[in-house]
Amino acid sequence: MGPIKRIKYSEQIKVGKDLAHLNRALEAKVAARTVELAKANADLLGREALLKQILDTSSVAIFVVDLNGRITQANRRMTEMFGCPLGDLLGKPYLTLVPPSVREISQQRMLALLAGSVPSVEVDRLYWRADQTEFWGHLAGRRFYHADGTEGGLVGVIADISLLKEHQRQLERIAHYDALTNLPNRVLLADRLHQAMTLAQRRGHLLVAVAYLDLDGFKAVNDQHGHEVGDQLLMTAATRMKQSLREGDTLARLGGDEFGAVLIEIEDRASSVPMLGRLLAAVAQPVQVGDLLLQVSASLGVTFYPQAEDLDADQLLRQADQAMYQAKLAGKNRYHMFDADQDISIRCRHESAQDIRRALSKNEFVLYYQPKVNMRTGQVIGAEALIRWQHPDKGLLPPDAFLPVIEDQPLAVELGEWVIDTALIQMVDWRPAGLDIPVSVNVGARQLQQADFVERLRSVLAAHRRVRPGDLELEVLETSALEDLEHVSRVIESCRELGVRFALDDFGTGYSSLTYLKRLSVTQLKIDQSFVRDMLDDPDDLAILDGVLGLATAFRRQPIAEGVETVEHGEMLLQLGCEVAQGYGIARPMPGGELPGWAAAWRPDPAWVGRSPVNRDDFPLLFCSVEHRAWILAIASHLRGEREVPRMDRHHCRFGAWLVAEGHSRHGAQPAFANIESLHRQLHALADELMGLNALGRNSEALARVHELHDLRDALLARIKTLLSETRLHELFSMGGRS
Ligand code: C2E
Ligand code: CA
Ligand code: CA
Repeated sequence: MGPIKRIKYSEQIKVGKDLAHLNRALEAKVAARTVELAKANADLLGREALLKQILDTSSVAIFVVDLNGRITQANRRMTEMFGCPLGDLLGKPYLTLVPPSVREISQQRMLALLAGSVPSVEVDRLYWRADQTEFWGHLAGRRFYHADGTEGGLVGVIADISLLKEHQRQLERIAHYDALTNLPNRVLLADRLHQAMTLAQRRGHLLVAVAYLDLDGFKAVNDQHGHEVGDQLLMTAATRMKQSLREGDTLARLGGDEFGAVLIEIEDRASSVPMLGRLLAAVAQPVQVGDLLLQVSASLGVTFYPQAEDLDADQLLRQADQAMYQAKLAGKNRYHMFDADQDISIRCRHESAQDIRRALSKNEFVLYYQPKVNMRTGQVIGAEALIRWQHPDKGLLPPDAFLPVIEDQPLAVELGEWVIDTALIQMVDWRPAGLDIPVSVNVGARQLQQADFVERLRSVLAAHRRVRPGDLELEVLETSALEDLEHVSRVIESCRELGVRFALDDFGTGYSSLTYLKRLSVTQLKIDQSFVRDMLDDPDDLAILDGVLGLATAFRRQPIAEGVETVEHGEMLLQLGCEVAQGYGIARPMPGGELPGWAAAWRPDPAWVGRSPVNRDDFPLLFCSVEHRAWILAIASHLRGEREVPRMDRHHCRFGAWLVAEGHSRHGAQPAFANIESLHRQLHALADELMGLNALGRNSEALARVHELHDLRDALLARIKTLLSETRLHELFSMGGRS
């Protein structure tokens, strides 16, 4: 600091003035600052009051807990919610607000929050009021810090959610209980079943029984007396069944007149029997509804858990359901135990049977129609209706994919009736498009076995008066006709009286004797397609075909060949004397809408037109091609080491024997004949040579020359064809000469 400067008086005055000025300025500043501070203070106070007001009008409880877990602040709602004055709340440990049962978990949560291992919590929690009544609150809590960064404790917000919880409970009840009987529903049953399964697994030695009950005769009660009476009956039956069970068991209503039960802690299968008996007895007791005394029974299916195979609750219920169905079939008012060993295939059957039922109600089935034609004249003589399932996910499904599933079930009958109905409608629909042909419908065994089959057919026909009964043809599998010959022959007879005709389908597969054939007055024999398909390569199938055609002629039934896939198939059939056919070689099954257009445009193959049968004496010419084709195939596969030596040397060849005898006398004069003899001889000589090479171990040399065999064979077959057409012309000519 420098020396104090001496100041003149005048200067002193000036400084004094300045100081006073400064002073005033300072004072003003302080005053302003004070006002500012006062204002700020007032703001602060106002804000606090405001905050308090806000907190107090809040509909949620808000509180602060210090690091020791004691409540240090609470709003008004908090005091109301807990029925406790503020003075009592402050200083109280937070944990005293929750009932002792949840105190431990609450404490863990709070400690975790305070320790910072979780940033916040949000839970539904049971609280209790000062009077120790409980209510549900939703708590949101988090840690907070003071302005200086030190830890403050927790701030929490609680909303009273008692009403919400009550509502939730009601919803749960609706979701889990049946409104009529107050029994658990399917969802809850599944849940209980789950628990029971877990428990059984843990305990090890005890079983769970799952029962599925369906009332017998309930529908009749409903239909006769109305739904209210039906409901009363269900309620009483439900109560009685429930009373027959033990505590811990669950009875549920699965819908309609179906119930399910989970019985726990069963020693073994046998020990469940008395319980099942009690359930059945509970249902079978008469029920008084007003003046009515009603009585129904139940069919019960039961299955047990655990099983050798790992399965879930759903599968168990399905097993029980399936066993229930068995109980129904066995005569109702009884139980049936599910047989896991017998199951596996049937299990998936039942599942898809339900799909099929759904599909039927959703109209997912369609009929395709495959024309039946006369190959010689080119006339379209009818169509076979073939069912398809237009599956929403899997596309168009063939009948093999679903019919076997329901084969033995009543559903098969329902579906069969749908087919007849739809086919009849289709026949009338075709008429404006110029198509008026009979339709064949396949009838399954189950449908045919219905006692009232004829009656039902009569009423369906009556409902479609515009259809001539003679235009409906029913195809019955030969195998199912033989199953119950008595009944089927009576049905066929009665249907004939209605005008409806029958065809025996897949003929040749059922070993029917001549006697049977005589007793079934069918108009058509449909030669099974397996014989038709293979007749060009397999002499045995050709022989069967020939035999069936002979039978048909003898019994004056019209033969029809199915499975005509190529022109050659058709040619062979025509030569054998079978004119009527269906098959991919003519047309594949098509939607009904396409058939009129197809029928108008279709022309038979030129090789078929006017083709008359070959004289039976010349059948060896027909058989020759098939026999030699099969024989050469066999040689080739023998050379490849695939099969035994085929037994058809020159001496075993029936065609060879025929050639030198009847063949020579019938055709010796025809130019093609000599050629045939020599080609046939060469063919056998070549075959012998190749077999010889093979025997010498020169197998690959032999294989390399197989094509020579094929060439010779084709040359031979071509000559035979020529010979046949020469013969046909000759016969036509001589017939023309005769007339
Ligand atoms: P099916 O009565 O023997 O009918 C002939 C089956 O052969 C049809 O098969 C048809 O599409 C097929 N097919 C026709 N021509 C040829 C051919 O040249 N080659 C070959 N490989 N197959 C040919 P799809 O439609 O699959 O029917 C199979 C079976 O399902 C039918 O055999 C019949 O037994 C049954 N089916 C079809 N529709 C119904 C129905 O509405 N009710 C009943 N109960 N059964 C039906
Ligand atoms: Ca058929
Ligand atoms: Ca068939």
